[in-house]
Amino acid sequence: MKLYDTAGIDERAALGEKKRAKVFSDLKECDLVVLVVNPATQDFSPENELLEFARDHDKQVIIFYNLFSEGDRASVRTAAAGMPLSMFYKNIAIDAKDDASRIPVIDFIRENFESKNFKVDLLPNVVRDGFYILNIPMDVETPGGRYLRPQAMCEEFITRNWAFPVSYRMDLASARSHDPEVVAAERGRFDKLIAGLGKKPELVITDSQAMDVAGKWVPKDILITTFSIVMINYMSRGRLKAFVNGALSIGKLKSGDKILIVEACNHSRVGEDIGTVQIPNYLSHNFPGVIVEHNFGREFQQNSTLSQYSLIIHCGGCMISSQKLAARMRDLDALGVPYTNYGLFLSYMQGEDVMLRVVKPFSL
Ligand code: SF4
Repeated sequence: MKLYDTAGIDERAALGEKKRAKVFSDLKECDLVVLVVNPATQDFSPENELLEFARDHDKQVIIFYNLFSEGDRASVRTAAAGMPLSMFYKNIAIDAKDDASRIPVIDFIRENFESKNFKVDLLPNVVRDGFYILNIPMDVETPGGRYLRPQAMCEEFITRNWAFPVSYRMDLASARSHDPEVVAAERGRFDKLIAGLGKKPELVITDSQAMDVAGKWVPKDILITTFSIVMINYMSRGRLKAFVNGALSIGKLKSGDKILIVEACNHSRVGEDIGTVQIPNYLSHNFPGVIVEHNFGREFQQNSTLSQYSLIIHCGGCMISSQKLAARMRDLDALGVPYTNYGLFLSYMQGEDVMLRVVKPFSL
């Protein structure tokens, strides 16, 4: 563990500028910011500057209100009001000068700091020499010459772990055709693939938008999930359960509720795009009167506007850092806004049991 004891950032002299630069450089490197506040302070500009910086850089923050006198306890509420972002972080009011506070201070940090320095496997329990089917329908949005990042990552991870990725391009137009013969022919292609492997595949990973077909065609004794679910579990460092919990709010949506669809990149959106066409269509069909809004790119909605939403539906988040995704989750948790994910939502639209099936590969 490395501990930085930072200098003040409120000095205006030339040396003060150097100290400021060092403080912000340290902030960038650290995993946890412990902000010690004197509640009797009148001007919280430096504290607010630190909190904003820490937040912009997705740092975990713990706030200690250091009680220099018993009278300071009454000022804690006013101090918190002077630092609006403090509402998102755990805090404790304690006399940190007192040796007896040492253990409670350490315990408080231990209870509230979540180390991010751990690794999550992209796919759990990959079986050596097992078959893994990647269902990649490809549509007008699919770029030529390469797989999308989640698909490429799955293929690489499976191969690296001595198993066999098998790509299958499902013809969604045929699979959804009103002509039973066309559907049967496409179904035959899929069944032939499964039977031709010679042994049961370990897992099918499908494009989320194909869950209406794949959920029915993949035999019940074969595990299935979606690329979007794989990614959100990976990017959130194994916190898929939080997105599953959010999905349970889908059934409570009612007319007038606002839903925010979030994509963490700005890919070109054409044709039957999942975020702008498919999910909104499912929502308006199943929950008439709900209002759908979008948030595209690396910047997220301001906290002041997030609380208006009844549900957030997030993409796989492969284009933002885990820290950025964690910051989004932290904000939404603090505001009590439920959030789920594309793959979970599209599976839930096929039935709650289908959604519970696609999280089984993650032992949920
Ligand atoms: S950031 Fe989201 S929308 Fe963009 S490619 Fe990744 S999963 Fe898809």
